Amino acid sequence: MKDLTMEKLVNHCKTVGFVYRGSDIYDGLANTWDYGPVGVELKNNIKKVWWKRFVQENDNTFGVDAAILMNPRVWEASGHTTSFADPKMDCKECKRRERADNLIADYAKKHKIDIVVDTMSNEEMEAFIAKHKVACPTCGKCNWSSIRQFNLMFETSRGVTDESQNKIYLRPETAQGEFVNFLNVQRTSRAKIPFGIAQIGKAFRNEITPGNFIFRTIEFEQMEHQFFCKEEDSMKFYEEYKQKALNFLLDLGFKKEELRFHDHDKLAFYAAAACDIEYLFPMGWSEVNGIHNRTNYDLSRHQEFSGKAMTYLDPTTNEKFVPYDIEYSIGCDRLLLACLCNAYDEQKLDGGDTRIVMHFHPAIAPYKVAVLPLQKDLNDKAREIYKSLQKQFMVTIDEAGSIGKRYRRQDQIGTPLCLTVDFDTLNDGTVTLRDRDTMEQVRVKTEDVAKYVQEKIAF
Ligand code: ATP
Repeated sequence: MKDLTMEKLVNHCKTVGFVYRGSDIYDGLANTWDYGPVGVELKNNIKKVWWKRFVQENDNTFGVDAAILMNPRVWEASGHTTSFADPKMDCKECKRRERADNLIADYAKKHKIDIVVDTMSNEEMEAFIAKHKVACPTCGKCNWSSIRQFNLMFETSRGVTDESQNKIYLRPETAQGEFVNFLNVQRTSRAKIPFGIAQIGKAFRNEITPGNFIFRTIEFEQMEHQFFCKEEDSMKFYEEYKQKALNFLLDLGFKKEELRFHDHDKLAFYAAAACDIEYLFPMGWSEVNGIHNRTNYDLSRHQEFSGKAMTYLDPTTNEKFVPYDIEYSIGCDRLLLACLCNAYDEQKLDGGDTRIVMHFHPAIAPYKVAVLPLQKDLNDKAREIYKSLQKQFMVTIDEAGSIGKRYRRQDQIGTPLCLTVDFDTLNDGTVTLRDRDTMEQVRVKTEDVAKYVQEKIAF
């Protein structure tokens, strides 16, 4: 995987239908991408396994699906209207807009300079860029404007007449949907602290830096879990969620040595602790998810701005308090990109051929089985098997081309099992199942296939 470049991955994704450029026939729209037939399956499966792990199997966790458009007061309370901004500079030569912190981080990575960008002030960033003559990635010149803060929220408006138009925002994070529903969920679910609220949903950020394929986009999905607890337990749960987040990635098939924790050097003023999990992407170590001890900042702010008491009454001690919150947030698209990078492999086969194979965990593979009749006369039998498996799994059927070519087509989209139907199938009701990774084949009774697949895709 290590000689995998982003360019190669983007081409592969386009060729087989994982991800296409957004608005492709109109030459695209920067930082937007569309998921194709196998991409949408992969994405849905990632959401499914995340929900299973962090809601279904997580004690005391409740899901919500909050509206994308929220009362603008929410963003005042959360601080986004005033401080959700990136330091931007414009190239005076080619007019390209760049994030100063990212320019410095990329430069430091390339030149092996040990520097913590998070803690730098605007003046320090400007000084660094001037001293090292950090060039514009587009035109190669170093002639920058001074740094200005650029708010990342997308604005829109609502109202039936021009006069009644009110400014509202596309949410820049899903988290506030969980916070504003804290009281609703606690009451309706009779939830006792500690408990969690989870959500998967779209978020929008006017990111000015083009972002390494789907790593950084202006529209993306977040999978988030807020865990509400007592202050004294918060660091224990923070550590627990760090571990849970890491285990989730390891169980998906990521290698330990390609993941690492990165503790934040600069904490937000309200945070008690914060760290990211980074993955070794083709462009280097970069964040996949964040885990934060946000103290009781968010609920307290909503209490202040909404006038509603965001308190919890402990039924045993009768103590009333605003709970602390441990946030675990992972971008679904960013995780999907990491899964693509982790799965991608090119293998030399006996006979000189090369195969591209995506070693996805079977639970997230787009199709679980590909049904392949060996000859035309077997198509009816193959269709019968395909129809019956279809009731339980995403299955595909491929009747055209040599069997070798058909295996290759499935390998490159990561189908864990190929089921071949041959003349013995008609005689004894057995089929061959070929494993994507080992390419080994086993003979199985048709009626046992579903159980075999079920075991293979367990997560
Ligand atoms: P970054 O430093 O990469 O901008 P962040 O620290 O702002 O990310 P959070 O606000 O903590 O990110 O969001 C949680 C997660 O959402 C991130 O870890 C990442 O997986 C995902 N995410 C954030 N911004 C984007 C984006 N523009 N495109 C895709 N995913 C994103």
